[in-house]
Amino acid sequence: MNNLFEEAKKYGDEIVSARRHFHRNPELHVDLQLTADYVMGKLTEYGYKPEQICKSGIVALAGGKKQGRTFLIRGDMDALPIKEETDLEFRSANGNMHACGHDMHTAMMLGAARLLKDHEDEIEGTVKLMFQPGEETLSGAKLMMEAGVLENPSVDKAMMIHVASGFPLKSGAVVFLDRGPVTANVDIFEIKVQGKGGHGATPDTAIDPLNALAHIHIALAEINSREVVAGEVAVLTIGEMHGGNAPNIIPDTAYMKGTIRTYSKEVRTLMNKRLEEISKGIASTFRCTAAVESRGCPCVENDKELFDSAMRYTTEMLGQEYVADMEKMTGKGMKLSGSEDFGFVSAEVPTLMLGLSASVFKDGVAYPQHHPKVVFDESVLPVGAAVYANTAIEWLRENK
Ligand SMILES: [Zn+2]
Ligand SMILES: [Zn+2]
Repeated sequence: MNNLFEEAKKYGDEIVSARRHFHRNPELHVDLQLTADYVMGKLTEYGYKPEQICKSGIVALAGGKKQGRTFLIRGDMDALPIKEETDLEFRSANGNMHACGHDMHTAMMLGAARLLKDHEDEIEGTVKLMFQPGEETLSGAKLMMEAGVLENPSVDKAMMIHVASGFPLKSGAVVFLDRGPVTANVDIFEIKVQGKGGHGATPDTAIDPLNALAHIHIALAEINSREVVAGEVAVLTIGEMHGGNAPNIIPDTAYMKGTIRTYSKEVRTLMNKRLEEISKGIASTFRCTAAVESRGCPCVENDKELFDSAMRYTTEMLGQEYVADMEKMTGKGMKLSGSEDFGFVSAEVPTLMLGLSASVFKDGVAYPQHHPKVVFDESVLPVGAAVYANTAIEWLRENK
Protein backbone atom coordinates (compact mmCIF):
# COMPACT_ATOMS: atom_id res chain seq x y z
CA MET A 1 0.00 0.00 0.00
CA ASN A 2 1.15 3.57 -0.69
CA ASN A 3 2.17 5.69 2.24
CA LEU A 4 1.06 9.18 1.27
CA PHE A 5 2.69 10.69 4.34
CA GLU A 6 6.13 9.55 3.16
CA GLU A 7 5.30 10.98 -0.28
CA ALA A 8 4.00 14.26 1.16
CA LYS A 9 7.29 14.85 2.97
CA LYS A 10 9.00 15.12 -0.43
CA TYR A 11 6.77 18.11 -1.18
CA GLY A 12 7.46 19.65 2.24
CA ASP A 13 9.47 22.63 0.99
CA GLU A 14 6.94 23.47 -1.67
CA ILE A 15 4.03 23.31 0.77
CA VAL A 16 5.91 25.51 3.25
CA SER A 17 6.71 28.09 0.60
CA ALA A 18 3.03 28.25 -0.45
CA ARG A 19 2.05 28.68 3.18
CA ARG A 20 4.53 31.51 3.66
CA HIS A 21 3.23 33.25 0.56
CA PHE A 22 -0.32 33.13 1.98
CA HIS A 23 0.89 34.16 5.42
CA ARG A 24 2.72 37.19 4.09
CA ASN A 25 -0.33 38.29 2.05
CA PRO A 26 -3.42 37.73 4.18
CA GLU A 27 -6.74 38.78 2.66
CA LEU A 28 -10.21 39.13 4.13
CA HIS A 29 -13.73 37.83 3.54
CA VAL A 30 -14.29 36.86 -0.10
CA ASP A 31 -11.79 39.41 -1.44
CA LEU A 32 -8.92 36.96 -1.88
CA GLN A 33 -7.49 38.03 -5.20
CA LEU A 34 -3.82 37.22 -4.50
CA THR A 35 -4.62 33.99 -2.70
CA ALA A 36 -7.03 32.76 -5.35
CA ASP A 37 -4.60 33.65 -8.15
CA TYR A 38 -1.84 31.67 -6.45
CA VAL A 39 -4.11 28.64 -5.91
CA MET A 40 -5.41 28.76 -9.50
CA GLY A 41 -1.83 29.02 -10.78
CA LYS A 42 -0.54 26.10 -8.73
CA LEU A 43 -3.49 23.86 -9.56
CA THR A 44 -3.05 24.58 -13.26
CA GLU A 45 0.68 23.88 -12.96
CA TYR A 46 -0.16 20.49 -11.35
CA GLY A 47 -2.38 19.60 -14.31
CA TYR A 48 -5.82 20.53 -12.97
CA LYS A 49 -8.54 22.52 -14.66
CA PRO A 50 -9.59 24.61 -11.66
CA GLU A 51 -12.73 26.72 -11.79
CA GLN A 52 -13.71 29.81 -9.82
CA ILE A 53 -17.38 29.11 -9.24
CA CYS A 54 -17.93 32.30 -7.22
CA LYS A 55 -15.77 35.17 -5.99
CA SER A 56 -12.55 33.55 -4.68
CA GLY A 57 -14.27 30.14 -4.46
CA ILE A 58 -12.28 27.50 -6.35
CA VAL A 59 -13.15 23.94 -7.26
CA ALA A 60 -10.90 21.32 -8.88
CA LEU A 61 -11.51 17.66 -9.59
CA ALA A 62 -9.08 14.75 -9.29
CA GLY A 63 -9.71 11.21 -10.52
CA GLY A 64 -12.86 10.41 -12.41
CA LYS A 65 -11.12 7.87 -14.62
CA LYS A 66 -12.63 5.00 -12.66
CA GLN A 67 -16.31 4.78 -11.77
CA GLY A 68 -17.12 5.60 -8.18
CA ARG A 69 -18.44 8.08 -5.70
CA THR A 70 -17.38 11.66 -4.96
CA PHE A 71 -15.46 12.73 -1.89
CA LEU A 72 -14.99 16.43 -1.11
CA ILE A 73 -12.06 17.91 0.78
CA ARG A 74 -12.22 21.51 1.89
CA GLY A 75 -9.68 24.15 2.89
CA ASP A 76 -10.56 27.72 3.81
CA MET A 77 -8.35 30.63 2.71
CA ASP A 78 -9.39 33.87 4.45
CA ALA A 79 -7.55 35.77 7.19
CA LEU A 80 -8.56 38.09 10.03
CA PRO A 81 -8.41 41.88 10.59
CA ILE A 82 -5.72 41.47 13.26
CA LYS A 83 -2.35 43.26 13.26
CA GLU A 84 0.29 40.54 13.46
CA GLU A 85 2.68 40.68 16.43
CA THR A 86 4.90 37.67 15.76
CA ASP A 87 8.57 37.96 14.92
CA LEU A 88 8.32 35.60 11.95
CA GLU A 89 10.48 36.55 9.02
CA PHE A 90 7.44 36.12 6.72
CA ARG A 91 4.95 37.96 8.97
CA SER A 92 2.21 40.04 7.44
CA ALA A 93 2.71 43.76 7.02
CA ASN A 94 -0.69 44.68 5.60
CA GLY A 95 -2.59 44.94 8.89
CA ASN A 96 -4.38 41.61 8.49
CA MET A 97 -3.22 38.25 9.78
CA HIS A 98 -3.64 34.54 9.21
CA ALA A 99 -4.30 34.07 12.91
CA CYS A 100 -6.72 31.17 12.47
CA GLY A 101 -4.32 29.11 10.36
CA HIS A 102 -6.28 29.16 7.10
CA ASP A 103 -2.97 29.79 5.29
CA MET A 104 -1.93 26.36 6.58
CA HIS A 105 -5.17 24.81 5.27
CA THR A 106 -4.77 26.30 1.80
CA ALA A 107 -1.17 25.08 1.59
CA MET A 108 -2.13 21.59 2.83
CA MET A 109 -4.85 21.43 0.19
CA LEU A 110 -2.29 22.29 -2.50
CA GLY A 111 -0.08 19.52 -1.12
CA ALA A 112 -3.06 17.16 -1.27
CA ALA A 113 -3.70 18.28 -4.85
CA ARG A 114 -0.18 17.19 -5.81
CA LEU A 115 -0.54 13.80 -4.12
CA LEU A 116 -3.93 13.20 -5.73
CA LYS A 117 -2.51 14.03 -9.16
CA ASP A 118 0.36 11.58 -8.59
CA HIS A 119 -2.22 8.86 -7.82
CA GLU A 120 -4.96 9.97 -10.18
CA ASP A 121 -5.13 6.66 -12.04
CA GLU A 122 -5.81 4.79 -8.79
CA ILE A 123 -8.67 6.99 -7.57
CA GLU A 124 -11.88 4.93 -7.62
CA GLY A 125 -14.25 7.81 -8.14
CA THR A 126 -13.71 11.55 -7.90
CA VAL A 127 -12.09 13.80 -5.34
CA LYS A 128 -13.48 17.32 -5.32
CA LEU A 129 -11.18 19.99 -3.92
CA MET A 130 -12.97 22.98 -2.40
CA PHE A 131 -10.89 26.11 -1.75
CA GLN A 132 -13.21 28.37 0.20
CA PRO A 133 -13.24 32.11 0.99
CA GLY A 134 -15.15 33.88 3.76
CA GLU A 135 -15.11 31.33 6.56
CA GLU A 136 -14.55 33.90 9.29
CA THR A 137 -17.63 35.79 8.15
CA LEU A 138 -19.64 32.53 7.99
CA SER A 139 -20.53 33.29 4.39
CA GLY A 140 -18.10 31.46 2.08
CA ALA A 141 -19.37 27.90 2.34
CA LYS A 142 -22.90 29.10 1.66
CA LEU A 143 -21.80 31.12 -1.38
CA MET A 144 -19.98 28.12 -2.81
CA MET A 145 -23.00 25.91 -2.19
CA GLU A 146 -25.24 28.41 -3.96
CA ALA A 147 -22.75 28.25 -6.84
CA GLY A 148 -23.16 24.46 -6.92
CA VAL A 149 -20.08 23.09 -5.15
CA LEU A 150 -21.99 20.04 -3.93
CA GLU A 151 -23.34 19.22 -7.41
CA ASN A 152 -21.96 17.87 -10.66
CA PRO A 153 -20.68 15.45 -9.58
CA SER A 154 -22.82 15.36 -6.46
CA VAL A 155 -20.85 14.92 -3.27
CA ASP A 156 -21.26 11.77 -1.14
CA LYS A 157 -19.04 12.66 1.82
CA ALA A 158 -16.98 15.69 2.76
CA MET A 159 -14.16 16.43 5.15
CA MET A 160 -12.16 19.37 6.45
CA ILE A 161 -9.14 19.81 8.68
CA HIS A 162 -8.51 22.69 11.08
CA VAL A 163 -5.10 23.27 12.62
CA ALA A 164 -5.13 23.87 16.37
CA SER A 165 -2.82 25.87 18.59
CA GLY A 166 -2.70 25.28 22.32
CA PHE A 167 -4.03 21.71 22.42
CA PRO A 168 -2.12 19.66 25.00
CA LEU A 169 -1.08 17.25 22.27
CA LYS A 170 2.11 16.74 20.35
CA SER A 171 2.48 18.63 17.14
CA GLY A 172 1.31 16.65 14.13
CA ALA A 173 -1.29 14.66 16.06
CA VAL A 174 -4.52 14.27 14.11
CA VAL A 175 -7.41 14.97 16.46
CA PHE A 176 -10.61 12.93 16.24
CA LEU A 177 -12.92 15.08 18.35
CA ASP A 178 -16.22 13.25 18.62
CA ARG A 179 -18.97 11.49 16.73
CA GLY A 180 -21.99 13.74 16.16
CA PRO A 181 -21.90 17.54 16.61
CA VAL A 182 -18.38 18.93 17.14
CA THR A 183 -18.85 22.67 16.68
CA ALA A 184 -21.72 24.77 17.96
CA ASN A 185 -24.78 26.03 16.16
CA VAL A 186 -23.99 29.73 16.21
CA ASP A 187 -26.47 32.57 15.99
CA ILE A 188 -25.52 36.24 16.08
CA PHE A 189 -28.45 38.53 16.85
CA GLU A 190 -29.37 42.16 17.24
CA ILE A 191 -32.35 43.44 19.23
CA LYS A 192 -33.34 46.95 18.33
CA VAL A 193 -35.82 48.72 20.58
CA GLN A 194 -37.77 51.67 19.28
CA GLY A 195 -39.09 54.17 21.83
CA LYS A 196 -39.77 57.88 21.55
CA GLY A 197 -37.03 60.37 22.29
CA GLY A 198 -37.52 63.32 24.57
CA HIS A 199 -36.22 65.55 27.34
CA GLY A 200 -34.76 63.84 30.39
CA ALA A 201 -36.69 66.27 32.61
CA THR A 202 -40.07 65.17 31.20
CA PRO A 203 -39.97 61.39 30.79
CA ASP A 204 -43.79 61.30 30.71
CA THR A 205 -43.68 62.87 27.25
CA ALA A 206 -41.22 60.28 25.95
CA ILE A 207 -41.00 56.49 25.75
CA ASP A 208 -37.72 55.25 27.13
CA PRO A 209 -36.10 52.47 25.05
CA LEU A 210 -33.20 52.09 27.54
CA ASN A 211 -35.60 50.97 30.25
CA ALA A 212 -37.13 48.37 27.94
CA LEU A 213 -33.72 47.18 26.78
CA ALA A 214 -32.55 46.69 30.37
CA HIS A 215 -35.61 44.58 31.18
CA ILE A 216 -35.13 42.49 28.04
CA HIS A 217 -31.51 41.85 29.01
CA ILE A 218 -32.50 40.54 32.42
CA ALA A 219 -35.46 38.54 31.10
CA LEU A 220 -33.39 36.63 28.53
CA ALA A 221 -31.74 34.69 31.36
CA GLU A 222 -35.13 33.03 31.86
CA ILE A 223 -34.72 30.92 28.72
CA ASN A 224 -31.62 29.19 29.98
CA SER A 225 -32.60 28.80 33.61
CA ARG A 226 -36.28 27.85 33.16
CA GLU A 227 -36.92 26.58 29.66
CA VAL A 228 -33.95 24.57 28.37
CA VAL A 229 -33.77 20.92 29.42
CA ALA A 230 -31.20 20.41 32.17
CA GLY A 231 -27.92 19.14 30.76
CA GLU A 232 -28.37 20.70 27.31
CA VAL A 233 -25.77 23.25 26.25
CA ALA A 234 -27.28 26.67 25.57
CA VAL A 235 -25.08 29.74 25.84
CA LEU A 236 -26.61 33.18 25.43
CA THR A 237 -24.24 36.12 25.66
CA ILE A 238 -25.00 39.80 25.18
CA GLY A 239 -21.77 41.45 24.12
CA GLU A 240 -22.98 44.94 23.23
CA MET A 241 -25.59 47.36 24.56
CA HIS A 242 -25.89 50.81 23.12
CA GLY A 243 -28.28 53.69 23.49
CA GLY A 244 -28.23 57.39 24.17
CA ASN A 245 -25.47 59.94 24.12
CA ALA A 246 -26.27 62.51 26.80
CA PRO A 247 -27.40 62.35 30.45
CA ASN A 248 -30.47 64.52 29.96
CA ILE A 249 -31.85 63.12 26.73
CA ILE A 250 -34.08 60.08 26.41
CA PRO A 251 -32.97 58.46 23.16
CA ASP A 252 -35.28 57.35 20.41
CA THR A 253 -33.76 53.88 20.01
CA ALA A 254 -31.37 51.51 21.72
CA TYR A 255 -30.00 48.12 20.75
CA MET A 256 -28.02 45.17 21.94
CA LYS A 257 -26.13 42.41 20.16
CA GLY A 258 -25.25 38.95 21.28
CA THR A 259 -24.67 35.34 20.35
CA ILE A 260 -26.34 32.00 21.02
CA ARG A 261 -24.38 28.73 21.01
CA THR A 262 -26.13 25.36 21.05
CA TYR A 263 -25.49 21.80 19.90
CA SER A 264 -28.99 20.50 19.23
CA LYS A 265 -31.41 21.68 16.57
CA GLU A 266 -34.33 21.69 19.03
CA VAL A 267 -32.55 23.85 21.58
CA ARG A 268 -31.36 26.20 18.84
CA THR A 269 -34.93 26.66 17.60
CA LEU A 270 -36.26 27.18 21.13
CA MET A 271 -33.59 29.77 22.02
CA ASN A 272 -34.18 31.83 18.89
CA LYS A 273 -37.97 31.64 19.14
CA ARG A 274 -38.02 32.71 22.78
CA LEU A 275 -35.41 35.43 22.19
CA GLU A 276 -37.80 37.05 19.77
CA GLU A 277 -40.95 36.51 21.85
CA ILE A 278 -39.39 37.85 25.05
CA SER A 279 -37.85 40.86 23.30
CA LYS A 280 -41.09 41.83 21.60
CA GLY A 281 -43.25 41.06 24.62
CA ILE A 282 -41.19 43.11 27.05
CA ALA A 283 -40.73 45.95 24.61
CA SER A 284 -44.50 46.21 24.24
CA THR A 285 -45.01 46.03 28.01
CA PHE A 286 -42.93 49.19 28.21
CA ARG A 287 -44.73 50.81 25.23
CA CYS A 288 -41.83 50.23 22.82
CA THR A 289 -41.43 47.95 19.83
CA ALA A 290 -38.56 45.54 19.26
CA ALA A 291 -37.12 44.19 16.01
CA VAL A 292 -34.93 41.09 16.20
CA GLU A 293 -32.49 40.18 13.48
CA SER A 294 -30.43 37.05 13.53
CA ARG A 295 -27.99 35.20 11.31
CA GLY A 296 -26.09 32.03 12.01
CA CYS A 297 -24.51 28.82 10.97
CA PRO A 298 -25.37 25.24 11.88
CA CYS A 299 -23.01 22.90 13.71
CA VAL A 300 -20.57 20.56 12.00
CA GLU A 301 -21.63 17.00 12.64
CA ASN A 302 -19.16 14.17 12.37
CA ASP A 303 -20.58 11.22 10.47
CA LYS A 304 -19.96 8.09 12.52
CA GLU A 305 -19.01 5.89 9.58
CA LEU A 306 -16.57 8.42 8.15
CA PHE A 307 -15.15 9.18 11.61
CA ASP A 308 -14.32 5.50 12.21
CA SER A 309 -13.02 4.88 8.68
CA ALA A 310 -10.82 7.98 8.69
CA MET A 311 -9.37 7.02 12.07
CA ARG A 312 -8.46 3.60 10.69
CA TYR A 313 -6.84 5.04 7.51
CA THR A 314 -4.94 7.67 9.49
CA THR A 315 -3.68 5.18 12.06
CA GLU A 316 -2.42 2.91 9.28
CA MET A 317 -0.62 5.80 7.61
CA LEU A 318 0.82 7.72 10.58
CA GLY A 319 0.89 5.16 13.39
CA GLN A 320 -1.14 5.12 16.60
CA GLU A 321 0.97 7.75 18.35
CA TYR A 322 -0.14 10.46 15.91
CA VAL A 323 -3.83 9.72 16.23
CA ALA A 324 -5.59 11.46 19.14
CA ASP A 325 -8.93 9.80 19.80
CA MET A 326 -10.53 12.31 22.17
CA GLU A 327 -13.29 9.90 23.09
CA LYS A 328 -10.71 7.45 24.41
CA MET A 329 -8.63 10.20 25.99
CA THR A 330 -11.42 12.06 27.79
CA GLY A 331 -14.08 9.37 28.08
CA LYS A 332 -16.68 11.56 26.34
CA GLY A 333 -15.20 13.09 23.20
CA MET A 334 -14.68 16.78 22.71
CA LYS A 335 -16.91 19.52 21.35
CA LEU A 336 -15.74 22.98 20.37
CA SER A 337 -17.88 25.99 21.32
CA GLY A 338 -16.66 27.92 18.29
CA SER A 339 -18.36 28.17 14.93
CA GLU A 340 -17.27 26.70 11.62
CA ASP A 341 -19.20 27.50 8.46
CA PHE A 342 -18.50 24.03 7.11
CA GLY A 343 -21.68 23.42 9.14
CA PHE A 344 -23.64 24.49 6.04
CA VAL A 345 -22.02 21.62 4.12
CA SER A 346 -22.60 19.33 7.08
CA ALA A 347 -26.32 20.08 6.96
CA GLU A 348 -26.43 18.72 3.38
CA VAL A 349 -23.97 15.78 3.23
CA PRO A 350 -22.29 13.52 5.81
CA THR A 351 -19.09 15.21 6.96
CA LEU A 352 -15.98 14.93 9.09
CA MET A 353 -14.01 17.68 10.80
CA LEU A 354 -10.52 16.76 12.00
CA GLY A 355 -8.15 18.79 14.15
CA LEU A 356 -4.43 18.92 13.49
CA SER A 357 -2.30 19.88 16.46
CA ALA A 358 0.18 22.54 15.34
CA SER A 359 1.26 24.39 18.47
CA VAL A 360 4.53 26.22 18.88
CA PHE A 361 5.34 26.66 22.57
CA LYS A 362 7.49 29.63 23.54
CA ASP A 363 8.34 30.04 27.23
CA GLY A 364 5.75 27.37 27.94
CA VAL A 365 2.99 29.28 26.17
CA ALA A 366 1.26 28.52 22.88
CA TYR A 367 -0.97 31.41 21.94
CA PRO A 368 -4.52 30.52 20.91
CA GLN A 369 -5.98 31.06 17.47
CA HIS A 370 -7.14 34.61 16.65
CA HIS A 371 -4.30 35.98 18.85
CA PRO A 372 -1.86 38.46 17.24
CA LYS A 373 1.07 36.40 18.52
CA VAL A 374 -0.09 32.92 17.51
CA VAL A 375 2.50 30.88 15.58
CA PHE A 376 1.72 27.57 13.89
CA ASP A 377 4.13 24.67 13.45
CA GLU A 378 4.86 24.30 9.73
CA SER A 379 6.26 20.80 10.18
CA VAL A 380 2.66 19.51 10.31
CA LEU A 381 1.88 20.66 6.76
CA PRO A 382 2.78 17.35 5.05
CA VAL A 383 0.68 15.49 7.65
CA GLY A 384 -2.37 17.59 6.75
CA ALA A 385 -1.78 17.19 3.01
CA ALA A 386 -1.44 13.42 3.38
CA VAL A 387 -4.52 13.04 5.61
CA TYR A 388 -6.67 14.98 3.14
CA ALA A 389 -5.53 12.90 0.16
CA ASN A 390 -5.34 9.56 1.92
CA THR A 391 -8.79 9.79 3.52
CA ALA A 392 -10.33 10.65 0.16
CA ILE A 393 -8.56 7.87 -1.76
CA GLU A 394 -9.17 5.19 0.86
CA TRP A 395 -12.82 6.07 1.43
CA LEU A 396 -13.50 5.98 -2.32
CA ARG A 397 -11.70 2.63 -2.57
CA GLU A 398 -13.80 1.07 0.21
CA ASN A 399 -17.10 2.56 -0.95
CA LYS A 400 -17.21 1.94 -4.67
ZN1 LIG B 1 -11.10 31.61 12.95
ZN1 LIG C 1 -10.64 28.91 11.26
